[in-house]
Amino acid sequence: MAITAEAVVIGGGIHGVSVLYNLAKKGLKNIFLFEKEYLTSGATGRCAAGVRHQFGTKINCLLMKESMKLLENLEEELNFDRSIEFTRGGYLMLAYNESQVKQFNENIKLQHELGIKESVFLSPQEIKEIVPDLNLEGVIGASYNPKDGHANPFMVTFAYAEAARRMGASIITHNRVLDIEIIRPGLFKVITEKGVYETPVVVNCAGAWGKELAKKLSIDIPVYPERHQIFVTEPIEYFLPCMVISFLHGTYFKQSPNGTILMGVGDPEHEVKDFNVNSSWDFLENAVKKFVFHLPKIKNLRIVRHWAGLYDMTPDQQAIIGKTDVEGFYLDLGWSGHGFQMGPIVGLLLAELVVEGKSHIDIDVLNLKRFEKGELIFEPACV
Ligand SMILES: Cc1cc2nc3c(=O)[nH]c(=O)nc-3n(C[C@H](O)[C@H](O)[C@H](O)COP(=O)(O)OP(=O)(O)OC[C@H]3O[C@@H](n4cnc5c(N)ncnc54)[C@H](O)[C@@H]3O)c2cc1C
Repeated sequence: MAITAEAVVIGGGIHGVSVLYNLAKKGLKNIFLFEKEYLTSGATGRCAAGVRHQFGTKINCLLMKESMKLLENLEEELNFDRSIEFTRGGYLMLAYNESQVKQFNENIKLQHELGIKESVFLSPQEIKEIVPDLNLEGVIGASYNPKDGHANPFMVTFAYAEAARRMGASIITHNRVLDIEIIRPGLFKVITEKGVYETPVVVNCAGAWGKELAKKLSIDIPVYPERHQIFVTEPIEYFLPCMVISFLHGTYFKQSPNGTILMGVGDPEHEVKDFNVNSSWDFLENAVKKFVFHLPKIKNLRIVRHWAGLYDMTPDQQAIIGKTDVEGFYLDLGWSGHGFQMGPIVGLLLAELVVEGKSHIDIDVLNLKRFEKGELIFEPACV
């Protein structure tokens, strides 16, 4: 016999747990999250967890302005007894040519207009004062915001999950959603490995796997997986206060609170576009050269871990969120390489949409319909 639920959330990454928590906070009872493996097993547990105000589209700036505020007080809000390791050492975006300088200055202008006043453009000398060990060969400036930083993606996810559970929500891991059927408009049958559920609300937070689930309801979403890889060195004494990104090299890196250096490279031309999350030797060889260029002092460090994860890509590298033509079926996916940081605010907005019919930030520009209408919105500040 089917179990009755007020809402079902699919996917145990940052978006799933944030939506679940916010639905519980809005008073929904009998709500369930299903995860086919374990919490954080998707992109969330494999990401670099950089968080930043510095975007080049209005919607991403507005979302991050609020997400940052939520991250600032997250341990308190969620009554979490550990640290989410939210570190505000700033984020440097290196410019190597005039077109990047122009783009970064346009981004900074937009950020200022939206109240993100701390973003500035730095000269190479000013960059050197922040990270003396960074190789500035070819660098002609950088966009910088001292309030940006990074966090621990596992701790942030667990903080939301534990808070949601305390409020009565159920999280069932190792439980794949196999099928979704419409019983009648506004009522679904969700068939999982561990049971069948009837619910008026389904939120698809299944990341790179979300396309298949939407297809069960004949909804076509243009999401595809793209492998991205990261490696981590042994720990060394603290020298890198901020996250650094180079769009020219496709590289980003940070020093974690435990002293290890985490480095990733986006290589869309060569990376596979399937569900393979094996890490590759080729990547390591190429990536190491790039990082020794950026940070010559790490050249003798040992690499202790190397892994891959999936970006859930869309044609404009922007997320797909909100209602669909199927009543009660919502999307929150397609976050490509910047979705971890958006989790706190978007979970809240989705819960508002489900419970109150309207979100306090207008997220309509990220609706699925934009692809049909040809209204793509390209984000110039992503890797
Ligand atoms: C290498 C790398 C670096 C990144 N760096 C950053 C960064 O610095 N900053 C940033 O903000 N973002 C970054 N990202 C992007 C970020 O990781 C993602 O945008 C974000 O984690 C997406 O969260 P999610 O909850 O939507 O998806 P996911 O974390 O992928 O969660 C989806 C979950 O759904 C589950 N699932 C799928 N199908 C089913 C099913 N049928 N039944 C049940 N469960 C199912 C999956 O197992 C998975 O756990 C990076 C990503 C990668 C791969």
